[in-house]
Amino acid sequence: MTAKTNSVKADFDVIGVGAGFAGLGLIHYVREAGLSVRVFDKASDVGGTWTWNRYPGAASDSECYYYCLTFSKELLQEWKWSVRYPGWEENLRYMHFVADRCNMWPHITLNTKIVGADFQKDTGLWLVRTDKGEQFTCRYFVSAMGMISEPVIPNFKGREKFKGPCFHSSRWPQEGLDYAGKRIAIIGSGATTVQMLPVVAETAAQVTVFQRTANFVMPAVQKPITPEWDKEIKENYDAIINKCRNHSFGMAFDSPVGRNLSDTPPDEVEKILEEHWPRGSFRFVFETFDDLVVNAESNRVVGDFIIKKTLSKVKDPETREMLKPKGYPFFAKRPPLDHGYFEAFNRENVKLVDINEREPIVEITETGIRTTKNHYEFDIIVLATGFQAYTGAQEALPIRGENGLLLKDKWKDVSGSIMGVFVSGFPNLFMITGPQAPFANLPTSIEQNIKYIVDCINKMEREGYSLCEPKRDAEEAWVAHTADIHRQTLMAQGDKVHSWMMGANLQDRNPRVLIYFGGANNYYDKLRDSANSGFPEVEFRKRA
Ligand code: NAP
Repeated sequence: MTAKTNSVKADFDVIGVGAGFAGLGLIHYVREAGLSVRVFDKASDVGGTWTWNRYPGAASDSECYYYCLTFSKELLQEWKWSVRYPGWEENLRYMHFVADRCNMWPHITLNTKIVGADFQKDTGLWLVRTDKGEQFTCRYFVSAMGMISEPVIPNFKGREKFKGPCFHSSRWPQEGLDYAGKRIAIIGSGATTVQMLPVVAETAAQVTVFQRTANFVMPAVQKPITPEWDKEIKENYDAIINKCRNHSFGMAFDSPVGRNLSDTPPDEVEKILEEHWPRGSFRFVFETFDDLVVNAESNRVVGDFIIKKTLSKVKDPETREMLKPKGYPFFAKRPPLDHGYFEAFNRENVKLVDINEREPIVEITETGIRTTKNHYEFDIIVLATGFQAYTGAQEALPIRGENGLLLKDKWKDVSGSIMGVFVSGFPNLFMITGPQAPFANLPTSIEQNIKYIVDCINKMEREGYSLCEPKRDAEEAWVAHTADIHRQTLMAQGDKVHSWMMGANLQDRNPRVLIYFGGANNYYDKLRDSANSGFPEVEFRKRA
């Protein structure tokens, strides 16, 4: 296949890497623009995060009816979710449904890792190389690799010595793993472990969680999607999509609510928090008060409420004390949603080990884990140790821009971009939810990003431009603006507790600003303003 081009022939107009929500959305919008597109993925299936994260209990933390692509009203009406937070299997079935119904498969190449992407100054094309030794050219290169996809695997001494399976949580064996009756170690206590523990504990002989930092955890409250609820959702899809587009975290919530905790009498505060707690989801943060993540005292009050509610479920006083988050504000780490995490610690076969203060891990041995105080024997070790968020996937793939500059090197000190989409020095490269985009319900942000990218491409096609060069001063301005907002939030304290939201979980670098916290809705407005005013952040050029 040869792409349309102003002067030089390319294999495709657009090449995207990653066949999750971002890759599928990209195929839809690029095809709608009348251009050719190919999406590559190293995985054996579409699904992105849902094809990798197959650990027991893996489920979305956004409610299903807005954790989906919205470009087709027919698909929204046709697909039926079974529960409020679908597990990975159902999410994967949904992704297949989208790919099947929209005839996307001819645009997708699976089991193929992209091992390099180089901008070619002489042709103005991107040259993309695969692990099969093939190479393809394209006019526009798009990273659709996901913002939480590159695993962090700490370099525990002796890891290679362990005789049993030892793997990162996002690399749970795809063929499944029979863990019934086995002794399992889970290192880490983030959102992944909070989901995994209650399920694994049901049949494992023993599960030991090695925790460095305790988390604030909110209730998920899983429920079936009844026929009545399904009907209500389907009758209201336009309003749901509109809510997501106009919400600070891209979710279909009724917020801002127009009241601050700081202005509300304490007994009224308690009543409101009690009322909202059983409803579950992130609604608890966003549909109670508007100042929980900006006002330190309001944050302390809600943090104490969460601690009281969750820890009252834990019977053993020592375990309860270890599970208490300390020394950082609520939301400085991304709070997980609970599906029975705290009750799991009441089981005879579940144990919590504090590897922060009491007994840090010394090494992994042939048969288990040695801490400063004990040696624990295991059959399986799961490293639920998180991800290099926002930048990991783009850094793992050598992407070379103008003058051979590697994106990884450009981002050595500051992971700068323009709105998480453009990077100066990298012409015709687009990122979907790159660094300094907001942290929000991902399908909402993904679709807003893709529309913006395709608007830019459409402008170039229409007006005969072949190069789009992000401006350095626009990038510096976005970096400064994002940092300015970040400083004013309580999330900036995440550096105290290894928060991935600022890369503080990485050992090879200093924490940095990775997220635009000015509100996803405001960010989506900025994307629209930019498109409507002809993309002033970039310079368009015609090739001779
Ligand atoms: P995470 O929240 O970053 O948690 C990683 C855990 O590993 C933390 O408890 C961390 O301790 C620990 N850890 C990391 N390095 C360690 C080391 N060298 N020694 C000891 N402990 C170490 O990762 P995650 O649980 O995979 O979740 C990451 C994000 O993915 C979530 O916040 C969420 O956004 C997303 N996620 C989403 C869903 C969903 O929506 N359904 C499910 C799972 C994950 P510290 O806390 O002390 O650093």
